[in-house]
Amino acid sequence: MDVKNLNIEKNKISTKSPMKLAKEKSRIFIFNTILWISSATLIGVSINNIDRYTKDTYNIYSGRKLTISKKDQENIIKNIEKKYNIKIKEKQKSSILFFDSIERNKKLTPDEKANFYGLADLIEDNPYIDKESAYTNLLNLDIKHKKNLKEKGLAGYWDGNDIYIEDTNPYWEQHVFFHEAIHAIHNNSAFGPKFIYEGMTELLASEYLNKPNMTYDEYISLVKMLCEIVGSDTVLKAYSTNDMTCIYNEMAKIGGKPTDAQELIYNIDYYLENITNEKLSNKQKEKLTGELYTLRKYYLKKNNEGYKEIDEANDLFDNYYMSLMRNIEGNYSYVYPRENKVYFNSEYKNRKSK
Ligand SMILES: [Zn+2]
Repeated sequence: MDVKNLNIEKNKISTKSPMKLAKEKSRIFIFNTILWISSATLIGVSINNIDRYTKDTYNIYSGRKLTISKKDQENIIKNIEKKYNIKIKEKQKSSILFFDSIERNKKLTPDEKANFYGLADLIEDNPYIDKESAYTNLLNLDIKHKKNLKEKGLAGYWDGNDIYIEDTNPYWEQHVFFHEAIHAIHNNSAFGPKFIYEGMTELLASEYLNKPNMTYDEYISLVKMLCEIVGSDTVLKAYSTNDMTCIYNEMAKIGGKPTDAQELIYNIDYYLENITNEKLSNKQKEKLTGELYTLRKYYLKKNNEGYKEIDEANDLFDNYYMSLMRNIEGNYSYVYPRENKVYFNSEYKNRKSK
């Protein structure tokens, strides 16, 4: 997460004290030991044997290697609810092994663990997450606080193992933590276009924190444009599987070939990355504008075929385009059209946008 252009609003600094945590270390140690033993016997269930588990067990992982019995699940939920004095929502209960991975993590403090529970809905909402990678990453990661990241132009980063966060203030730290934890959960550090890799991460952090994004305005604008063209589900799939093919294929259904779409996306990504570093000539800026208008053509064509609200579609895309250009030009106004529109958080997604 770049520190450059961070939109820190002083009045937004959280005054909430961290969740009060019960100290029941010895009990938890024994409980966890039992869990380790009971789960160990369940690991290694092959895909062929999975059916006989489905009636009374939960198979949480995409790779179908790990199952957990309902009784174990209930025990984990009970333990976490009591320990952190929280109520785990019904829809989050199938993600119980994520709670379990955090509980078993030996490096995180209780306060840090409590923070992770804010991400349960994000995990539950995303069917494309590689859950085994996410489980392993959460089980093993540590949060390391640093004092010199800002000088390197960073607010925080995930290095494939641990999360590093610049020591600043609680509001910043919580947001940066969410952003970096989302990288860790999606395990996509080597992922292609930067505007999707970072824009999606920050958009997800913002939606699941229910707070404005802190940075990457132009990337988020572009991600939203893409969501309007190929659908947010397709963008989420590409982001979570580290594979842009589904986006290119969706675009090709609207017009051109998948390789045309690929070239367009990579050109935009290249120009955007360099425009924020002020490395772009005026001619290249014009080229970027041209590419964005090509993207707009996809949008208009899609909406022509899909539904007849062409004027609204036109306005919407113009607004996205303008907010993108404003952000690029350094006018950080937070103006997004339909800025209340939620693309991924199922709890808010269906509420009426303005
Ligand atoms: Zn990032």
